[in-house]
Amino acid sequence: MCKCIFCKLRSNEKVIEHIIPESFGNKEYILKNGLVCNECNNRFSKFETTALSNTVFVMERARFGIESKKGKSAKGKVGGLSIEGDKDLRPEIISIKGLNTGNVKNFDPKTKTFQIIVPTFDKSEVATSKMLLKIGMEAIFKSRIHVFLLSDFK
Ligand SMILES: [Zn+2]
Repeated sequence: MCKCIFCKLRSNEKVIEHIIPESFGNKEYILKNGLVCNECNNRFSKFETTALSNTVFVMERARFGIESKKGKSAKGKVGGLSIEGDKDLRPEIISIKGLNTGNVKNFDPKTKTFQIIVPTFDKSEVATSKMLLKIGMEAIFKSRIHVFLLSDFK
């Protein structure tokens, strides 16, 4: 039986904790079972879902054709736009629904280029910060456990 590295409570759960979220394509950089309890893992997954689906991360996951935990293309909403990767996970294909004349500017028929204005990522900064902090703490635990144990992360 282990103790959860975050809440310090005993944990014998079989949760596989992906240090970098699985939805970024990580399948190998993980913590041993039981080092993060179910309760903490569930708490993390709430803000990870927001960070992965409602920020620039969803566009990058879609652009690289990275499959979700469930094997599907990246999907989410950013600033009122619906973003989705290719269903066959082909990279560089992103569907953006909800564009209007306010989002598309400076079309140049000569060079066939235009700009897409994506509104600010609303209310996702906190979730993104928490996800990055969690990744950092777990990475320190994995690679520099003596530093992790000396530090008070409360
Ligand atoms: Zn815990």
